[in-house]
Amino acid sequence: MHAMTDALTIALSKGRILEDTLPLLAAAGVEPAEDPARSRKLVLDTNLPHVKLVILRATDVPTYVQYGAADIGVAGKDVLMEHGGRHLYELLDLGIARCRLMVAGQPGANAGTGSLRVATKFVRIARRYFAGQGRQVETIKLYGSMELAPLAGLADLIVDLVDTGNTLRANGLEPLEHIADISARLVVNRASMKMKHQSIKSFVDRLEAAAGDAAAHD
Ligand code: AMP
Repeated sequence: MHAMTDALTIALSKGRILEDTLPLLAAAGVEPAEDPARSRKLVLDTNLPHVKLVILRATDVPTYVQYGAADIGVAGKDVLMEHGGRHLYELLDLGIARCRLMVAGQPGANAGTGSLRVATKFVRIARRYFAGQGRQVETIKLYGSMELAPLAGLADLIVDLVDTGNTLRANGLEPLEHIADISARLVVNRASMKMKHQSIKSFVDRLEAAAGDAAAHD
């Protein structure tokens, strides 16, 4: 078997991460045969015959990589922390889609001593964060528009991604506590890492160089 031509499937997250990842992939020599933002195809060929892309919901990327349905994935650190990162190697910080995972709410909303209600789509991260501080909270799972929860009286606090802070400010909320710095990471399936080592290493090296060049021009 020719190690250099091992078939590779790369899972990418739809949305913000996809937009930022495609230029890095191109700089690493991998270009989709058609524009993923326009195509309805979920599996895309690339200019390299042995490399395919699958375009997924962000939260599904670690699952595909965990089970080996994709060899490699690009996912936000938030998604990886919530997933738990089992059976995955996190090999690179791509330095793209940067933001912060924050506790937010109305000013002073985190000061009370009683049990607080926290609305978030990051339930596991929120539980771990507050438990780590010995604080009692009830978590409420939401799938979007977290900022609405404190305004509607559903929750005292939210745990959400913050970039400019404009969304919070527009809703009378402020960032209150910093949980983690977030950026997109490259993850690799453990078995693929052994079986397709040469192909993966050469791809990861090229992507690392591309990410380094992009950071140098920031
Ligand atoms: P901002 O108003 O710039 O603070 O952006 C906050 C909104 O954008 C929230 O709804 C976040 O969930 C979302 N957001 C910010 N940064 C990211 C990111 N890197 N990836 C995904 N969603 C993000």
